[in-house]
Amino acid sequence: MFNKKSNKSQRFWILVVLILTTGTVFSPKSVMAQELNIYSHRQPFLIKPFIRAFEKNTGVKVNVVFAARGLMQRLKAEGPRSPADLILTVDIARLALYAQKGLFAPVTSKILRANIPSNFREKNNYWYALSKRARVLAIAKDRVKPKEIKRIEDLAKSKWKGKICTRKGSHVYNRALLSSIIAANGKTAAVKWVKGLISNLARRPQGNDRAQIKAIAQGVCDVAIINHYYFFKMKNSKNQTQRDWVNSIQILFLNQGDRGNHINVSGIGVAKHSKNKRNAIRLMEFLSNDFAQNLYAKINYEYPVNQSVKPSVEVLSLGKFKEDKLPIGLIAKLAPDAQKIINRVGW
Ligand code: FE
Repeated sequence: MFNKKSNKSQRFWILVVLILTTGTVFSPKSVMAQELNIYSHRQPFLIKPFIRAFEKNTGVKVNVVFAARGLMQRLKAEGPRSPADLILTVDIARLALYAQKGLFAPVTSKILRANIPSNFREKNNYWYALSKRARVLAIAKDRVKPKEIKRIEDLAKSKWKGKICTRKGSHVYNRALLSSIIAANGKTAAVKWVKGLISNLARRPQGNDRAQIKAIAQGVCDVAIINHYYFFKMKNSKNQTQRDWVNSIQILFLNQGDRGNHINVSGIGVAKHSKNKRNAIRLMEFLSNDFAQNLYAKINYEYPVNQSVKPSVEVLSLGKFKEDKLPIGLIAKLAPDAQKIINRVGW
């Protein structure tokens, strides 16, 4: 009797020590529990459906830390002790910058190679693009005819004086667009273009892409640059006001007679100091597979990078368009030049 009691209390104290030292109740389940931490530049509600599906499929819990800015500094400051396993971005330049700063680990995966075309992954496997977005023109349906604007270059023409709205140039979407213009026309022409654009603005650069659509709806301006998916997001919004705003605009693809419309990508890389690389790669593979790529198409209205997955019916209704085939890595490379021009001219 005495012995039995002492065994029991011994077991009790072992358990107490385990809880105190590991911070968790020692059970087979908690030892096996697997977690992944994502640092995301992408808003949580946009990636939740993917994450939920991955968690359900694999039993791996995924935590998302979201911040539009500052994540790179945080990752750098944390160094080898960082809890981050994966970084998600909504722009190629930032993706490339993580790689350039040595913050990514290279990832080799047959699945990723098969699912993502070579021009949408880094040649040394430091990052992979997951979805494509076209930066298009929104025009006021009742005030602008589609044939009036053919090229992004046209926005610098004096014909559009006082008629254009835009968000700030230094936002990654516009900076990437300007990189593509530098690549196509050279730096001098790019400076001239920004100056022309600025002189045509109806108001100082402000707001996000949705705010530009609102401005067109309210008659502030007739033309704005937006990412294509905002058109559909607003069209299918629960908010009647957003639906009304978007009803007043039409989408135009640009440069269809020459280099094609500028596109950007969202993408992912594994954090250099991730302690869960195997599961991190599993999540990347999951995001490149048909199931998740279909979600990118249907929920986010983006263009899948996986060629076996079609864009959503709604996005397809815009018709086929010619993409600017400029290597996305070059857009990233030209981002600092673009930023210099933006600072100098004041976009
Ligand atoms: Fe966006």
